[in-house]
Amino acid sequence: QAKGGAKGTWQRYQPELHTAMTERLEVRAALHEAIDTQQFRTMYQPIIDLETGLITGVESLVRWEHPVRGLLGPYHFIEVAEESGAIVAIGDWVLREALRQFARWRADDPDMTLRYVSVNVSARQFRTPGFVDRVRAALDEAGAKPEWLLLEITESLVLRDAEQVWADLRMLRAMGVRIAIDDFGTGYSSLSYLRQMPVDVLKLDKSFIDDILTSDQQHTMVDAIVALARNLDLKVIAEGVEEPGQRAALARMGCPYGQGYLFSRPVWPAEIVALAHAEAQLV
Ligand code: C2E
Ligand code: MG
Ligand code: MG
Ligand code: MG
Repeated sequence: QAKGGAKGTWQRYQPELHTAMTERLEVRAALHEAIDTQQFRTMYQPIIDLETGLITGVESLVRWEHPVRGLLGPYHFIEVAEESGAIVAIGDWVLREALRQFARWRADDPDMTLRYVSVNVSARQFRTPGFVDRVRAALDEAGAKPEWLLLEITESLVLRDAEQVWADLRMLRAMGVRIAIDDFGTGYSSLSYLRQMPVDVLKLDKSFIDDILTSDQQHTMVDAIVALARNLDLKVIAEGVEEPGQRAALARMGCPYGQGYLFSRPVWPAEIVALAHAEAQLV
């Protein structure tokens, strides 16, 4: 029997729940060894200039090459890593790896259209004292320019604890690192607040793009956000673009950038070289 439910009542034993808990515990126990033995990998997904169709940036997306279970996406371990704190070390590794990779791409082909690599930063990682210093160290170590780095943070991070977080964001931007709000629109930030936020880019959440062709309301929302962002000098990246019609609608609104399966799924580094080198229009 397990204790649970709304009022702490005793419920019947649930095997699925047991499996889920066991998996979480196993993941938690394995994460640190996974860091030490370098089981993490980064895939990269192109971010496209909607006007030219060229790759303008890439987002790094972490994967865990589990010795038994195979390649695991973030869904299988990020939440547990957040809870246990392992995300700080994983995130630091991803940051250093992504910058190292990007610097190598630049060195191999200085004329490539790729201008930046975007790295996800968890709230816990950002709040760990010394984060700004670690970003600086990662840039130095890779021989990377701050302009090559875009950091993706969440709306809730910018809203909570404004003082310290905003100070750090300002410091990063003063260095030349740019900041994006990931999954924009899923949190609670008011549009008027946007004017003051020390950020450069809004990544408009996939849920907005999903209904852009089928819901007038959603279309109007995206149109308004794109217009507002332009007036505030913020760039917009539309996430989760899957259909040509969505891309066309976004382009008509003047949304500058897009990312999604329509252009490319996340791929391994060698494939990025091919995509950026050929200056191939992805759509
Ligand atoms: P995210 O940062 O919003 O990244 C976009 C996610 O959407 C990726 O999933 C990507 O593969 C997926 N995606 C992109 N285009 C499409 C599309 O057209 N259709 C659909 N259905 N999906 C699309 P992924 O790689 O599984 O990552 C999931 C989440 O895990 C990320 O969402 C991010 O929040 C987190 N994550 C990934 N890498 C890292 C990391 O290095 N550090 C941290 N803290 N979080 C990470
Ligand atoms: Mg992201
Ligand atoms: Mg996102
Ligand atoms: Mg997302």
